[in-house]
Amino acid sequence: MRATDSEIFEAIKSVLKKDTTIHSQKELFEKVKKTLSGKEEVQVSAERIRRVAKKNGIRIQVHSRKGKEIKICPFCGKELQDITSKDLFGKSTVIGKLCKNCKFEIGIGRSPARYVFRK
Ligand SMILES: [Zn+2]
Repeated sequence: MRATDSEIFEAIKSVLKKDTTIHSQKELFEKVKKTLSGKEEVQVSAERIRRVAKKNGIRIQVHSRKGKEIKICPFCGKELQDITSKDLFGKSTVIGKLCKNCKFEIGIGRSPARYVFRK
């Protein structure tokens, strides 16, 4: 059985009603999946839960670590744009990446390590 976006969102809300902060995507995934699965096992991926949460205004804090640069937004799949900053001499350097669609931001040379979800 495949869950719909609204079923997933309802499950996220009920999980966050019990635990107002979920400290990782894995934890949210396990709790949402458990909430969704009644008699039948429900097919849902951690990435899909993350996207549904973001789309519906759940607050998500992204902890990043040094790593491979990402080009695609982890929330909406859109291409990330460069964030540039000018130095004292007017030379601009790329300091981070931004998703114009959902405002996700990450520093240059960093990749998402952990997602924290809040009600
Ligand atoms: Zn985005």
